[in-house]
Amino acid sequence: MPAELMDGVALARAIRDDVAAGVLVQRARGVAPGLAVVLVGEDPASTVYVRNKGRACEEAGMHSETIRLPASTTQAEVLAMVDRLNADPAIHGMLVQMPLPPQCDADAVIRRIDPAKDVDGFHPINAGKLLIGERDGFAPCTPSGVMELLRRYGIATAGAEVVIIGRSNIVGKPMASLLMQPGVDATVTVCHSRTRDLAAHTRRADILIAAIGRPRFVTAGMVKAGATVIDVGINRVDEPRARQGYILAGDVDFAPVSEVAGHITPVPGGVGPLTIAMLLKSTLVAAARVTVP
Ligand code: NAD
Repeated sequence: MPAELMDGVALARAIRDDVAAGVLVQRARGVAPGLAVVLVGEDPASTVYVRNKGRACEEAGMHSETIRLPASTTQAEVLAMVDRLNADPAIHGMLVQMPLPPQCDADAVIRRIDPAKDVDGFHPINAGKLLIGERDGFAPCTPSGVMELLRRYGIATAGAEVVIIGRSNIVGKPMASLLMQPGVDATVTVCHSRTRDLAAHTRRADILIAAIGRPRFVTAGMVKAGATVIDVGINRVDEPRARQGYILAGDVDFAPVSEVAGHITPVPGGVGPLTIAMLLKSTLVAAARVTVP
């Protein structure tokens, strides 16, 4: 029997509606939640992401500021912009879109962001808080979106075997942190490019999460019958018949895997839309933490 589809578009819509309601509550106490996004250069994918973030903010009734800086911007100029936004009371959340041009040190920029405004959850303070289970920080948006999907579809995590493929700081590692926390209680295995006999691990998984960046890498033979398969990957695959010359494919070979899995996320329309929804949610949380005199 084919797997049940996990609809990220509908869940993201519901989260964004909740955020819009929360924005009204904040406005009523005199706080207008605001998100600033800094884009350095003109990377086409980043430009699209940033535009979508701005629109989503406005739709949720949030104040949104997009700062576009030329690709020649120096490290000092990016840091000065971060300082300005750190000090701006109208901005509760901020992020600097990655990748940055080579003259800018991404780690230094991330460390400069006030952790209380770091709604991407990339600052070491927030990464540390997530790992030790302190809830007053911010978790990265993509793995937070995956947690929402698991909750919404009633996928049990307590005692479940979860296998994550990928150990990046933005997906794989924070995903593992979220899932191993008391209360979530999964048994987590993190696999990566040096893992021996990857399929032996993935076939044990009750929940398999792919965050690799390789189109259709996870095949049906790697998946246990009835498993929940979460596909974080977003890959462009050349397709001459497509209008733009490419299509988007996940890290999972969707059609055959959906014959084996119990639940599965599509690409597009699975994890992707949740990332922006969770960014808005974190910005609302940041605004709600502000004390009004
Ligand atoms: P990354 O390149 O930083 O990390 C990829 C990971 O995959 C690495 O840890 C690497 O060890 C592992 N890997 C690579 N080849 C492997 C192999 N053959 N076997 C096992 N592991 C292997 O990537 P990332 O930033 O974590 O992104 C992963 C994917 O998720 C990409 O397709 C990216 O576009 C997508 N992504 C989607 C969202 C979203 O909003 N849905 C957000 C972030 C990333």
